[in-house]
Amino acid sequence: MDRKKITFKKDKNLSKTEMQEWMFQEKVKILYQNQTQSWVISILASAILAYLSFESNNEVAGFSWWFIFVVITLVRTWNTQQFHQALKEDNIQDYYRWFNRFYIATVAAGIGWGVGGFVIGLSLDPLGQVLIFTVFIGVGAAATPLLGIAQRIMLSFQAVSIIPYVVYMSILLERRGLVLLCMFLIFMAGVVASIRRMNKTLTQNMALQYKNLQMVDTLSESNQQLQNANEKLKTLSLEDTLTELHNRRYFEIQLEIEWRRDSREQKILTLMIIDIDYFKLYNDTYGHAEGDECLKSVAQVLKSCLHRTTDIIARIGGEEFVVMLPNINTKGALKLAKQMQHQLDLSGLVHATSPLGDNVTVSIGVASVIPGESATALSLFKAADKALYKAKSKGRNQVVVGEMELQ
Ligand code: GH3
Ligand code: MG
Ligand code: MG
Repeated sequence: MDRKKITFKKDKNLSKTEMQEWMFQEKVKILYQNQTQSWVISILASAILAYLSFESNNEVAGFSWWFIFVVITLVRTWNTQQFHQALKEDNIQDYYRWFNRFYIATVAAGIGWGVGGFVIGLSLDPLGQVLIFTVFIGVGAAATPLLGIAQRIMLSFQAVSIIPYVVYMSILLERRGLVLLCMFLIFMAGVVASIRRMNKTLTQNMALQYKNLQMVDTLSESNQQLQNANEKLKTLSLEDTLTELHNRRYFEIQLEIEWRRDSREQKILTLMIIDIDYFKLYNDTYGHAEGDECLKSVAQVLKSCLHRTTDIIARIGGEEFVVMLPNINTKGALKLAKQMQHQLDLSGLVHATSPLGDNVTVSIGVASVIPGESATALSLFKAADKALYKAKSKGRNQVVVGEMELQ
């Protein structure tokens, strides 16, 4: 299993083991938190221990031990920094490896404590030894909230740091030693009970958090789907699904916008309406499906003739297209219309039953105006449509430029 990251998006019903895996990762993160606290406690308490070595003129051994202990602590700090760095870079491949690194570092510190007890404690008088014992109990108590989240690490730490010295003291103090041992066992039982309770609460909280995260992911996923669907709907409602050109609605919106702009800037606007000749005959000859293919091909040819980003082509009816050409006069539009007819002829779309020839042809009506108060967008459209009608009545496969009726 990839332990690097568990994403909630992939599977809405993540198994229990995956939840446990997630919890484990969170616990490792918690273990690596609070490290400054652990660092301060380690350095201070070990300094106290080293200081006790003055009492028995054992300071060379005491401070040598302290030096080694500080080195161990620094290595632990380095390990923690490495972890946080990897976490920041989102580069944690294996949480188990980091858990084990923490485990080893903590056991090393525990052994450091254990050895320190004997190095410094053995040469002290009984009162001094009791002092050492107190330091150890203090260290054990302070380590509980920091390590308690991982019982294995906690118990291993106690086993190598405090327990050997406690056993030694119990033997040394004979009958009183028994009392000491009992007190220590009571202390340990308390520690174990409290870390168990803490872990139980923590696990319950984590499970809740996990479910919350899952819910958030599910919600944001459906939100995203909804957004996508909306986007699609928006495009669909402005697109002609057959030819993938714009549809009539889109054209009308754009014509309104363009009309206002050109009216402000006093620029000429040209419309071109294009209609396929004898298309009913085409359908009758080749069938409706072939007719659809023909519509798609004609659409592509017409579109390929437009090169300016401001030119807009849309399918506005069965076999009827409109082209909006801002800032192009009738002369330019006429040239473009001829080019469209030429390209269509070149494309070799066969219409065998057409009375006009072998290929599919179109008739085109053109009208231009400088938008202003004496005309409307609708009157421009009507003029182009009238010109198209004229082109049809004149025998089809031609371009006619219409006259605008100005008010
Ligand atoms: P004209 O030269 O006068 O334009 O004659 P026409 O046959 O092209 O015109 P008419 O308006 O008589 O017929 C248009 C035909 O276009 C009729 C209709 O079946 C067909 N048509 C309209 N929409 C579609 C479509 O989406 N797919 C197909 N295959 N045919 C369509
Ligand atoms: Mg037609
Ligand atoms: Mg028509």
